[in-house]
Amino acid sequence: MKRREFFKFTGSAGVLALFHAAGLGKIAQAAASKSNIALSGLPYGEKALEPFISARTFSFHYGKHYQGYIAKTNKFIAGTEFERMSLEDIIKKTQGKEDKSAIFNNAAQVFNHTFYWKSMKPNGGGRPAGKIAQKITQAFGDYSKFSEAFSSAAASQFGSGWAWLVKDGDTLKVIKTGNADTPIAHGLVPLLTIDVWEHAYYLDYQNRRDDYIKAYLAHLVNWEFAEKNMG
Ligand code: MN
Repeated sequence: MKRREFFKFTGSAGVLALFHAAGLGKIAQAAASKSNIALSGLPYGEKALEPFISARTFSFHYGKHYQGYIAKTNKFIAGTEFERMSLEDIIKKTQGKEDKSAIFNNAAQVFNHTFYWKSMKPNGGGRPAGKIAQKITQAFGDYSKFSEAFSSAAASQFGSGWAWLVKDGDTLKVIKTGNADTPIAHGLVPLLTIDVWEHAYYLDYQNRRDDYIKAYLAHLVNWEFAEKNMG
């Protein structure tokens, strides 16, 4: 029997049975997952941050890495106490627990990336204005001292990780975190982040992480988002 005739013959029920036989039933299971962890859309088009971050970078970073973290989080929490928790609760409850590190790492990477997409916008960057500008002056002295501290944290994170502007009580701080680690696991309120994993910049900047950091600060920072996060 020819392939086309076979499909006509089996009809849709037969096709579903074939999918299950081929192991594709897992896809249908994932779609029926009870978890709340879902893809957060990019807040702009894939080309919107060019020439500083290319559509090609987003096609891998958003399309592959980020979706991979979401799929793995959902896989690891399926059927566990974490299945119906918010992403933030999953991160806080698995932080520091050796036997839960796979869940923590993937869930924290989902949080960090969703936060990173929102930390940027087209025609962003430069000096902030308003309430957040005053807070930066209070905490760092002036914008250029903040910019130096943030660049230095992002450049000196050895290997994979993140640099952040966070609110710690009533003041602002710059911190860096390794791998998937995230400020919300440590009682800090994130305001802005930059991803310094190589996958975030390698296609556009290769080994020039400093140039990526400069472009982020000068052209990409979404200060309205940061100010909103101050609460
Ligand atoms: Mn990343």
